Amino acid sequence: MIVRARTVVTMNGPPIEDGAVVVDAGRIIDVGPFADVQSRRSGEVVDLGDQALLPGLINAHCHLDYTCLRAQIPRLESFTDWIKSINGAKAKLSPDDYLKSINEGFAEAIRFGTTTVCNLTSVPHVLPQLTPPIRTCWFAELIDVRGAERANDIVARAFQIFEHARLTQKSCWGLAPHAPFTASSELYRRSTEIAPLITTHVAESAEEMQMFRDAAGPLYDFLESIGRDMSDCGNRTPLQEFLQRVGDRCLPKSIVAHLNEMTERDFELVRGLPAKFHVAHCPRSHEYFRHAPFAFARLRQLGVNICLGTDSLASNQDLSLFAEMRRFEAEFPGVPPLEILQMVTVNPARAMGREGSLGVIGPGTAADLIAVPCAGTGEFLSEIIAFTERPWVMVSGRCLEQ
Ligand SMILES: [Zn+2]
Repeated sequence: MIVRARTVVTMNGPPIEDGAVVVDAGRIIDVGPFADVQSRRSGEVVDLGDQALLPGLINAHCHLDYTCLRAQIPRLESFTDWIKSINGAKAKLSPDDYLKSINEGFAEAIRFGTTTVCNLTSVPHVLPQLTPPIRTCWFAELIDVRGAERANDIVARAFQIFEHARLTQKSCWGLAPHAPFTASSELYRRSTEIAPLITTHVAESAEEMQMFRDAAGPLYDFLESIGRDMSDCGNRTPLQEFLQRVGDRCLPKSIVAHLNEMTERDFELVRGLPAKFHVAHCPRSHEYFRHAPFAFARLRQLGVNICLGTDSLASNQDLSLFAEMRRFEAEFPGVPPLEILQMVTVNPARAMGREGSLGVIGPGTAADLIAVPCAGTGEFLSEIIAFTERPWVMVSGRCLEQ
């Protein structure tokens, strides 16, 4: 199949005017100006007309489990109170509720042009009952807040689930020790030993900083009251806890969600790391919680790979990465549109270890494509970010129903 469009945005070279992409067996086998491609290839032509064709978007941090919690949890002043509130809401969900929620989340993600999602799930055992319509990296969310005795068993059980789930070609897996305040050092250590990818929440809130650095505050009090061993508090920041638990060697396979709270010492530590971790920033969830400003410029300058995610609908209105790009643009005016688009294409692909095969258009890459109308004004990257409708979507060479 030859897909023709006014502009092909490859993300690894200049845009191609009146371009075409040749798709075969789920992959892209050729790309170039339409006239050139047509002279060397035959096949059905799908002419998208005045549209920009670009790689499908990649959501670097999401919890489809909580699609059903949209608008269910009021914004609370205290992050700790919000955690208590979502825990209360989660306790009422049945396995069927989770299945429905995840499936609705997939459907919504596609409607917004997302073709790959890094999805944390607290119910990995429902995986055999799911057929993800988009590329999914499943991260089993692991928690052992009351003690590390079961860390090995928790990791072994998650691994077994992924082994038995027979993940399709469109899926991969990793582990998500939830956060340094809910997952023990042992749980992090076992997870990093076994998993090809790691994701975790670090330094999301001021209360987490207060807990680890000062051994004080509402999160400290709450976790102490439920029986967490608090002897790791009062010494280090959340980032320092994370770095100590994961170790330098595993940082390149680690996606850190949030990282809103950093001290000068934290920045110095990041500067000295031999290889960096990746960061998933969730602009609208960040706005919902009114967290401290995200240190985008400093982290970028230190060579950290920054990606965007939606987080869950317990702290966001929808799963649109276009809306995340617009919120980011408002948060950081002056960042060029190309760099913003990279944060939902090439950057998350790199974080997933799929650099060069996802998030770009070129021979040998996955045929995950979206198209959005473009007027040909030359400002097509801004037009893409401003897009609010339903894009044309292809995943693994298959056009999805519109
Ligand atoms: Zn999260």
